[in-house]
Amino acid sequence: MKEARIIKVAGPLVVAEGCLGAKMYDMVRVSQDRLIGEIIELKRDLASIQVYEETAGIGPNDPVYLTGEPLSCELGPGLIGSVYDGIQRPLDILRLKYGDFVVKGINLPALDRQKTWYFKPKVSRNELVEEGDILGEVEETALVTHRVLVPLGIKGRVLEIYEGEFKIDDTVAKIESEGKVLEINMSRKWPVRKGRPVKERLSPNEPLVTGQRVIDTLFPIAKGGSGCIPGPFGSGKTVFLHEVAKWSNADIIVYCACGERGNEVADLLLTLPELKDPSTGRPLLERTVVIANTSNMPVAAREASVYTAITIAEYFRDMGYAVALMADSTSRWAEALREISGRLQEMPGEEGYPAYLSTRIAQFYERAGKVVCLGKEKRLGSLTVMGAVSPPGGDLSCPVVQATLRVVKVFWSLDDRLASARHFPAINWLLSYSLYHQNLKEFIKKHISEEFLSLKKELMRILEEEAELLEIARLVGIESLSLQERLLLETAKSIREDFLHQNAFHPIDTYSSLRKQYLMLKSLLMLHKVASQLLDKGFSLKEVLELPIREKIFRLKYIPEDRLEEFKDLEEELEKLL
Ligand code: ADP
Repeated sequence: MKEARIIKVAGPLVVAEGCLGAKMYDMVRVSQDRLIGEIIELKRDLASIQVYEETAGIGPNDPVYLTGEPLSCELGPGLIGSVYDGIQRPLDILRLKYGDFVVKGINLPALDRQKTWYFKPKVSRNELVEEGDILGEVEETALVTHRVLVPLGIKGRVLEIYEGEFKIDDTVAKIESEGKVLEINMSRKWPVRKGRPVKERLSPNEPLVTGQRVIDTLFPIAKGGSGCIPGPFGSGKTVFLHEVAKWSNADIIVYCACGERGNEVADLLLTLPELKDPSTGRPLLERTVVIANTSNMPVAAREASVYTAITIAEYFRDMGYAVALMADSTSRWAEALREISGRLQEMPGEEGYPAYLSTRIAQFYERAGKVVCLGKEKRLGSLTVMGAVSPPGGDLSCPVVQATLRVVKVFWSLDDRLASARHFPAINWLLSYSLYHQNLKEFIKKHISEEFLSLKKELMRILEEEAELLEIARLVGIESLSLQERLLLETAKSIREDFLHQNAFHPIDTYSSLRKQYLMLKSLLMLHKVASQLLDKGFSLKEVLELPIREKIFRLKYIPEDRLEEFKDLEEELEKLL
């Protein structure tokens, strides 16, 4: 390690001289305490260093140790179920060893070096392998099979491969590559700020089914897509992300609590281990990695946390998994950028955020995608990124929301009026959008029904018309509306209350499969059609609204997934009314 000296300390930013030869984004150790830092600006031999730990007590002339390596993530078996801070220090182990407060300058490995894993080879001796091929597998948890891949840049013949219990640094295979014999173990390193390479990027064409009706039916997100959920405090962002973590059909969840208020992080850490994977009943943590910044870590660590999270997510994507990453909340990350930029005395942009805010946000979300993974055999993986944004006062014109909306393809707009009316998820159906409808069309046609597509359009039409009619009714009174228009208002109300409203805390209502969503929508809209025809035949609105079948339709959401055939009887009953 070369030595440099501090000349200035400004909060989490340290300027050091004597850094010739260092590179941007190199990791450094600051002062005798060996605090972890990263070079974020270089001018001649002067380096500005973002320090990820409390800098109190350090000052000019203290040493800075250059490592010559970029800030990296450690990847390998043992990631799943771990809870890390923004620079991938295992929080649970930190706590066991050092108590509740993070002690400065700790250099703990992210993965357990002593634990053994049963490695099962997937290739045999003498086989030719290349980067990205699956070398072997480890049953990491009951829910996740960890695929150990041939590291990047390696192509050659397998000389030896061993089956059995190994620690992550033990050699599990020997590969002859370009005349050299390489010993391969199960741990890898990857610089967090660099996206991991893939063979090809594909257009996302399968839905990430979240089980939330307003999402899957109206504003779906594709596996490999990106979405954002801005909303004021208390509007349901966290509950929403938890629901997606719990119910979505992703194989792996990476949850990044990038610096929300400390008690919310604590809340997450308390609730997450209790969540169960609904299809297997196993703890959700067995397919989850958590990155959480505790409140006593400086803001700079938030900046690193989103990169740490997305690098881990990409690592699992490369194994051929569908990974979902949630970041709660990216506003705190942007605030960290703003603070550091201020300390660097850069020219501020809108609301004091640096001019490169949108580039950074775009670079982050662009790491989402559906891809063909490296390797000889075709393997598809996807990384879906969902970011909560908490703009001050819920103001959507804030630069972070605007920059995010420019890159993501789904916008779930949380509405505090809906939240205060206890309409959850409080997603405003008139403001939100998804640009994935077209991509998902074929999937819906093939796996659910072509009719679902037209039903969705009809649903949206009714909701839009409702908004117009309500406006008219407000201006000139409800009496000015025709019977058909008043029926439409009743149907729209029922769509809102019986379809879009979904109680995350009700055992059945919390999740609806795509099939159930389709059947519910079909019945609701069929009822509307029947009612409209009855009105035409001369029935009064009161008679139509008192049809006994309405009661049944309003309770559709409580039909369990294993009794979906009940919808058939209902359809028949409706048809008879026509
Ligand atoms: P935020 O993260 O935006 O500050 P939360 O996600 O903590 O907001 O939500 C605030 C409260 O709203 C929750 O404690 C819960 O009572 C209620 N809530 C949010 N979403 C739902 C839902 N889908 N079903 C029932 N209640 C909900």
